[in-house]
Amino acid sequence: MANMTILGAGLAGLSTAMMLRGDGHDVTVLERDPAPPGSRLWETWQRPGVNQFRLPHFMLPRWWQTLSADLPAAAAEVLAAGGSRFSLVPPPQREGDARFETVTARRPVLEAAMARAAERCGVVLRRGVRVSGVRLESETRVTGVTTDGDPVSSDLVIDCSGRRSAMPAWLAAAGVTPPAEERDDAGFVYYSRHFRGDRPGLRVMVQQQYASVTVLTLPADDGTWSVVLIGSTRDHALRVLRDPATWTSVVRRYPLAAPWIDAEPITGVDVMAGIEDRLRHYAPGGAPLVTGMVPLGDAWACTNPSLGRGAAFTLIHARVLRDTLRDTDPADHDKVTRRFHEATARTVLPLYRATNGFDKHRLAEMDGDVTGAPYQTDDLRWIGAKALYAAALRDPDMLRAYLTVAGFLEAPDEVFAKPGVRDRVLALGVSAPQYPLPGPDRAELLRLCTA
Ligand SMILES: Cc1cc2nc3c(=O)[nH]c(=O)nc-3n(C[C@H](O)[C@H](O)[C@H](O)COP(=O)(O)OP(=O)(O)OC[C@H]3O[C@@H](n4cnc5c(N)ncnc54)[C@H](O)[C@@H]3O)c2cc1C
Repeated sequence: MANMTILGAGLAGLSTAMMLRGDGHDVTVLERDPAPPGSRLWETWQRPGVNQFRLPHFMLPRWWQTLSADLPAAAAEVLAAGGSRFSLVPPPQREGDARFETVTARRPVLEAAMARAAERCGVVLRRGVRVSGVRLESETRVTGVTTDGDPVSSDLVIDCSGRRSAMPAWLAAAGVTPPAEERDDAGFVYYSRHFRGDRPGLRVMVQQQYASVTVLTLPADDGTWSVVLIGSTRDHALRVLRDPATWTSVVRRYPLAAPWIDAEPITGVDVMAGIEDRLRHYAPGGAPLVTGMVPLGDAWACTNPSLGRGAAFTLIHARVLRDTLRDTDPADHDKVTRRFHEATARTVLPLYRATNGFDKHRLAEMDGDVTGAPYQTDDLRWIGAKALYAAALRDPDMLRAYLTVAGFLEAPDEVFAKPGVRDRVLALGVSAPQYPLPGPDRAELLRLCTA
């Protein structure tokens, strides 16, 4: 068993810590931000290390299923903290629909529950410790980190310090080639608001696409939820949505979302833009830049969050590391690092690329709505995704096929390969209107924004 140091106590750091501790490793997590307060987490927990801390977070069924299977004590802790059970399928439900269930909560509640579970299983969580660099034994072998206090030695350093990870800069400062990055402003802007009250029931689906905007209605814990309008950052006309009165009058015109704002708002309209898609290449051509250090979660790759996949990605990636360490002697840092990068490229990278591809198409479609030049593509994956979405609104079997993808339970290729799905989607979805749900078209949205 080895001694592991994890940088960052976000969802990636905590999940990974628990998985490795469960296999008997000694695990220490270093986190720069202070500990959660004993109560009133939502109002008072200070987390400058996580920009999105008070923004909507929805946990997908894939996250919940993986958590329940691999970290049952953490799943129990999330439920005990008030995590809310929710099914992606609106009533009536039928046999087999349990796979679409999840448990979700606001991020502070979720993270505090995960941290409690981590400490209960023997993870050492050191808060208020800022990592400042890496320690190297040879030119490329990481043996620990420096902090604003004492240095920390480790058999394996796991970078879970999030999308703004300073690891590339630390490597460069230590004389190591930093990773090349694929980086792009995702181009979306989020106008979100949290509410409290009697949560309305789900009528169709949580993600609703309309001309130039996507609307999300996301349940959370303790009688709270959020409603999000997502637009393109190029769509300047939508900037007025930061005004709560305008935001409210716009959301009221979307019949599926309108009941979700008839409650007490517990935030103003939170606006977030400039979220980058970013992928860091720590093993170009399969050859790791360093050994003894692996990046995981957002520190390795992150996407725009409109599909809500970040936390699920994190658990999938943590499993990859756990399984690599099960199959490889942890003392063989060279082999561990190489095998981890290989397994990441094989299993997680395709999920990242698919998520990123969907986002790019959706953004181009929204931008087309704004300019009035409808988006055209011959990419069958996007055409299939649009057709499946439309078919889901007309057929309960296709709804389940769509939710299998939306819940991140299976890839679109797997779903389309099932008997009858392709034909049914072709019959119901291909000739459907671009935006089949009832709601304002672009002209009406503009009128609402300028009223
Ligand atoms: C607006 C927005 C909405 C999102 N919504 C969803 C959603 O609905 N569903 C979903 O699944 N995902 C969502 N995500 C993504 C999700 O937040 C992350 O993917 C997920 O939390 C995994 O992040 P992480 O743990 O890798 O990084 P983070 O959560 O960023 O955690 C990194 C941690 O590292 C610490 N740290 C950083 N530097 C140092 C240092 N030098 N020393 C010590 N500690 C350090 C930070 O303080 C922080 O605690 C959203 C993201 C954004 C931006």
